[in-house]
Amino acid sequence: MAGLHEKLQAIYEEVGQRNAGEQEFHQAVYEVLTSLGPVVAKHPEYADGAIIRRLCEPERQIIFRVPWHDDSGAAQINRGFRVEFNSALGPFKGGLRFHPSVYLGIVKFLGFEQIFKNSLTGLPIGGGKGGSDFDPKGRSDAEIMRFCQSFMTELYRHIGEYTDVPAGDIGVGMREIGYLFGQYKRITNRYESGVLTGKGLTWGGSQVRTEATGYGTVFFVDEILRSSGQSFEGKQVVVSGSGNVAIYAIEKVHALGGTVVACSDSGGYVRDEKGIDLDLLKEVKELRRGRIEDYAEARGGAAEVVTGRSVWEVPCDIALPCATQNEVSGTDATMLINSGCQIVAEGANMPCTPEAVKFFEEAGVRFAPGKAANAGGVATSALEMQQNASRDSWNFDDTEARLAEIMRRIHDRCLATADEYGQPGNYVAGANIAGFIRVADAMLALGLV
Ligand code: NDP
Repeated sequence: MAGLHEKLQAIYEEVGQRNAGEQEFHQAVYEVLTSLGPVVAKHPEYADGAIIRRLCEPERQIIFRVPWHDDSGAAQINRGFRVEFNSALGPFKGGLRFHPSVYLGIVKFLGFEQIFKNSLTGLPIGGGKGGSDFDPKGRSDAEIMRFCQSFMTELYRHIGEYTDVPAGDIGVGMREIGYLFGQYKRITNRYESGVLTGKGLTWGGSQVRTEATGYGTVFFVDEILRSSGQSFEGKQVVVSGSGNVAIYAIEKVHALGGTVVACSDSGGYVRDEKGIDLDLLKEVKELRRGRIEDYAEARGGAAEVVTGRSVWEVPCDIALPCATQNEVSGTDATMLINSGCQIVAEGANMPCTPEAVKFFEEAGVRFAPGKAANAGGVATSALEMQQNASRDSWNFDDTEARLAEIMRRIHDRCLATADEYGQPGNYVAGANIAGFIRVADAMLALGLV
């Protein structure tokens, strides 16, 4: 724990004691605190007003039982979560994750990250996150619907367009948002579009929301490239995952002239030297809900499927981890550095371990943390809320242009803040400090609440 400012060290130890066993949450808090030393030195009012201690304690944590019937008629019980972390800047906002690994520590790490990410967008949204240990893999449509309905039967009383606005995350896409919204509407008898984001276009959704996180990550990298007079043209890119974020990151890399030569799922990775065939990947993953080896099979001899090894062994100029937390280890980072990788941008939340981040920094690899690089998803969710509030809908090109502009501003704010605090070029410091200051100032203004 070397390197933490004395006041921050005490806060970190308290977080560990109060949240025992929540390793991912500790990791996320530590990552932010490591950047805040110069801020506390310059602005003692943040430490004195207990701003940082309050930031580490969610405003509200809800844990509930989710009972449902599977297709055989057997009763199943899962656990549901919603952690409403901080509402100083606006209603709680953040996705729902359905994955067997979900427990309170994962939801808290994601909710904590979300506070700073949402702050960085410059939009009026607080931070929260939720989900369930439900595993959607292999479940029928009817089972997914029954689960979502049961989940919302409890969640509905805690959310609302001015209170808390959930969206998707791992395992929660437009299908699940539809079932959740349908049940909310049924229980409350209100067509309250602004209560959930990630909706379908015919029922209150926004253009570009589906694409936003992946596109936004690539826009962010494009800004990094531009800042050194480069572009995506001719760059080899590796993307992990093949879900929502990964697919639209691949789409935008190809549109900007780069080539994605590998992507993955939890079963392995495919290497496709001519470039991932995106139409085929979408068909396999979005329509058939298939596995990455189905892609390789359908591609014939053009793609090789590799199991039991890391996708980061594939040489590239740019790496975009877009699957899940802690998926890039120190060993993976070393492989990337040795193969000449120059930029790593996190499409997923906290996919790089602290050791990997340290190695990238030491090797001079430009590293963009998720709270900056993947903020395009939640920013476009905020645009969806704006359209819902004004009963308007914008076209694709205008919405995409707004997203690109938001990502450019986040990029510039990170660099300017890093400069101001004596760490030029350090996107981690820039993102943490800029995200922190906006929310901390709002908390100071609102008093001890
Ligand atoms: P999806 O469920 O659409 O896709 C997740 C992908 O990651 C799948 O291909 C999945 O493979 C793969 N994956 C999951 N766990 C592992 C693992 N342990 N090892 C290898 N691959 C794995 O989720 P999203 O694309 O929405 O989310 C991906 C990441 O991006 C998450 O970290 C999420 O928090 C973050 N994010 C998402 C946003 C959004 O708008 N959706 C916004 C900001 C961040 P498999 O199907 O085999 O499990």
